[in-house]
Amino acid sequence: MPERYAKSIAHLERSRKSLAGGVSSNVRAGDKPLPLFFDRGLGSHLWDVDGNEYIDYVLGRGPLFLGHTQLEVIDATCRQLQRGQIYAAQHELEFELSERISRIIPCADLVRFGISGSEAVHVALRLARAATGRQTIIKFEGQYHGWLDNILYSLSPDPTRAGDERHPAALAESAGQFTSADSHLVILPWNNFGVLEEYLAQHGNSIAAVITEPVMCNTAVIPPLPGYLQGMRDLCTAHGIALIFDEVITGFRLSLSGAQGYFNVVPDLTIFGKAIANGMPISCLAGKEKYMGLIASGKVGHGGTYNTIPPAVAGAIATLDLLEFNGGSVYKTVEFAGQRLMNGIKSLAEKRSIPIVVQGYASIFYVGFSSINATGDAQAIYDYRSSLALNQELYSEFVCAMVDRGIRIIPRGNWFLSSVHSDADIDATMSVVDAVFLEVVSNAMREARNINPPRT
Ligand code: PLP
Repeated sequence: MPERYAKSIAHLERSRKSLAGGVSSNVRAGDKPLPLFFDRGLGSHLWDVDGNEYIDYVLGRGPLFLGHTQLEVIDATCRQLQRGQIYAAQHELEFELSERISRIIPCADLVRFGISGSEAVHVALRLARAATGRQTIIKFEGQYHGWLDNILYSLSPDPTRAGDERHPAALAESAGQFTSADSHLVILPWNNFGVLEEYLAQHGNSIAAVITEPVMCNTAVIPPLPGYLQGMRDLCTAHGIALIFDEVITGFRLSLSGAQGYFNVVPDLTIFGKAIANGMPISCLAGKEKYMGLIASGKVGHGGTYNTIPPAVAGAIATLDLLEFNGGSVYKTVEFAGQRLMNGIKSLAEKRSIPIVVQGYASIFYVGFSSINATGDAQAIYDYRSSLALNQELYSEFVCAMVDRGIRIIPRGNWFLSSVHSDADIDATMSVVDAVFLEVVSNAMREARNINPPRT
């Protein structure tokens, strides 16, 4: 391995002397087998500084639904760059984009744009508090809504510290967060309608918002149980609570109209980022007049020097042009490729009796190694606590072996698909998966059985 990554290893060493941790986002420090340095990307492929080529299922951790260096998006961005980078004022592309989003997104009476998903979440929570006059936010264990102080809680908490799975304690993910933030945060298990209903029956009149990823992308890409999102919608309406869908991952990816269109459940507020502009930095808060009107009237503050910089807006419009082209045919392309890959990975695992979980959707799915339940089936993963049964150590070995063989995947188990992953990419990926199952995963499982032989 050291020779294959020689330049990346040297660059990392050098970076660490001036760049904290050698990376610009803590998440990247956890990349396997190491934080690599990349030179260029095109379509579904990436090249690192050592000249190694990868089929990329990371896709910038979600934005690149149309692939790297997408021609029309780059073109629109560059043309706008030549006319000006930033005006600190209004421009025509802004309302072109907001009108477009209002037409596409069910809850979008009004929108505001920002740069990152984290800050858009911040405004959504502020709006919910302002509109309801209440302070407390309900967040679900295992979900992520950005890295800001009041919401960076209980993404991957230690269950022995979090305690009762029906009413876990709120645990900060980072040192230095306000210790008072958790007094306005309630953590509940996701996909458990009964717990939410019971909690709201007692405390509903003190809750400002329920914020949820409509698909739990940040833990094992867990789909909502049938009726769960609609049930959540009905409860929020009954208790006068703002329902916020964090669609930073699902937006423009699960369908053109995101998870709210896919599941036909309309939240009060919603946050988009990532796939909205295929890699250009732009996020979007969209919502109903009752909430967004508070920004319009100036009662609720929202700002940002770099909001709607024209090149990013031009990139978003070019992205939406492509997503809407030909009745949204890109979604069919991704559906076909993603289903083929998900089914292929599942059947390769079955062939070698590897207990695997492959779940989610064609455009964003999860792969993990599971434990087997009493009936011999892979254990179902339906919330954060059940996801703890997954064998993360074995998956890390799998990731290293895949990256060593030219398939770039995320250590947490999420696979992102783009519209430009070809049949040849999927074939090549499956043959690497097959080799890694045989050479690495089956061996590791055999060794584990030898160390812990089944009781007779
Ligand atoms: N919400 C969700 C569901 C996310 O997955 C992320 C980032 O991955 C965020 C919010 C934060 O977005 P950003 O990284 O753009 O701040």
